[in-house]
Amino acid sequence: MYDVAIIGAGASGLMCACVLKIKNHKLKVLLLEKNDKIGKKLLITGNGRCNLGNLNTNISNYNSSSDINRFKKYLDIKEFLDSKDDVIPSLLDNENYIEYLKYIGIIIKEDEKRLYPYSNQAICVCKAFERYLNYLNVDIKYNYDVTSAIKKDNNFIINNDIKVRQVVIATGGKTYPKTGSTGAGYEILRKFGHNIKTLYPSLTYLKTDYKYIKDIAGVRFDCLVSLSVDKTIKETEDGQVQFTKDSVSGICVFDLSRNVKKYIDEKKKVSLIINLVPNYSVYQLEKYIKSFKEYKIEDALSGIINNKLACVIAKQLKIHGKLVKQMKKSEIDHVLFTLHNMYFNITQTGDFNHAQITNGGANLDEFTDKLESKICKGLYAIGEVLDVDGKCGGYNLSWAFTSALIAGDEIVKMSSK
Ligand SMILES: Cc1cc2nc3c(=O)[nH]c(=O)nc-3n(C[C@H](O)[C@H](O)[C@H](O)COP(=O)(O)OP(=O)(O)OC[C@H]3O[C@@H](n4cnc5c(N)ncnc54)[C@H](O)[C@@H]3O)c2cc1C
Repeated sequence: MYDVAIIGAGASGLMCACVLKIKNHKLKVLLLEKNDKIGKKLLITGNGRCNLGNLNTNISNYNSSSDINRFKKYLDIKEFLDSKDDVIPSLLDNENYIEYLKYIGIIIKEDEKRLYPYSNQAICVCKAFERYLNYLNVDIKYNYDVTSAIKKDNNFIINNDIKVRQVVIATGGKTYPKTGSTGAGYEILRKFGHNIKTLYPSLTYLKTDYKYIKDIAGVRFDCLVSLSVDKTIKETEDGQVQFTKDSVSGICVFDLSRNVKKYIDEKKKVSLIINLVPNYSVYQLEKYIKSFKEYKIEDALSGIINNKLACVIAKQLKIHGKLVKQMKKSEIDHVLFTLHNMYFNITQTGDFNHAQITNGGANLDEFTDKLESKICKGLYAIGEVLDVDGKCGGYNLSWAFTSALIAGDEIVKMSSK
């Protein structure tokens, strides 16, 4: 009989298997994966570079409908890197996933605070896990789709087939289902009595019905973007925005997208308000535009914003082709306002096939600080299946790895009792 079965060989499941065996090599650990290989989603992270973490990690980068402050010490990179927890300092310098990654052969490098494998290749991360799990003698069953798990006496029975003492649900969320993360873990947890907070696609593009969106498809620029919900600004992000033929995209938009589907379902009015020229005041912009009196307004604007954007602003305000010197004060004021407040009504978000992360999931309140189920002893959940989601920038993989460390450590402690 196995001591622990981990369902899912993605980021969290792989890390959990390593932690268990590193801390207690006698534990019999089984990894169950429905695909024919490990880490299919890991392979596509960070555009194939695998953004493993971020030096700015702190609790404010995370979102949950439960209070996640009890995980602050793990999700605050300063506290985390400095922590001298009681857990296995004899094997590793520090109890944090970066040390573990190093330990299994994944050397990290930093690029603008983001952490990547030194090789810049997600495939090297998967290969390192594969090699290390082999070295640790972790049994992996591929093409094994877990459809049921029940508790009988003090053990768990998986698919009416495998008997095991403890189970870790590491099945991920619901996004990019082709990678194997189809949301099966939610059903397994539901059957144990857990509540699943409504699932929404998050970190995705936002669809707009802006009249001239096709005219600006392909345009990218740095700006300040605010998310407005029922006329209240909820959040503001800076960064590069990209337009497609029907949507607004870019990392800063992804970060703002986290609760948008929820707002839309609640019939709230959602919009993006973009400050195209955050570094210029109204006064400076007015002075600039008026210094080109003989120019058509779109040509004057082209000196400071993308030419296609300049044209659609002129069209939107019905002043296309007008010379600056012919414009009324109210028209100039409108242009100035629009430069700082270009408005995009948001009609929908990308779906689960296009979102990077699932917002919602297994109710965190039903799990202990060590991620053991409060409903069923010996059952753990880690990674994206839980109701925790992070911003873009490596925060989701750091949650997957960190939660694996938390649960893995507890399982080892419990097993030795
Ligand atoms: C395109 C894209 C890019 C991303 N880039 C980044 C990034 O650069 N940085 C970052 O921090 N985050 C990134 N993320 C998010 C990150 O990949 C996930 O949050 C993370 O992989 C979650 O880890 P996990 O172990 O919980 O789940 P997953 O990695 O999804 O792994 C779950 C595993 O469980 C298996 N499984 C599911 N159900 C069953 C079952 N019933 N039986 C057996 N096996 C099962 C699946 O096949 C899968 O292998 C990205 C996501 C996407 C989609």
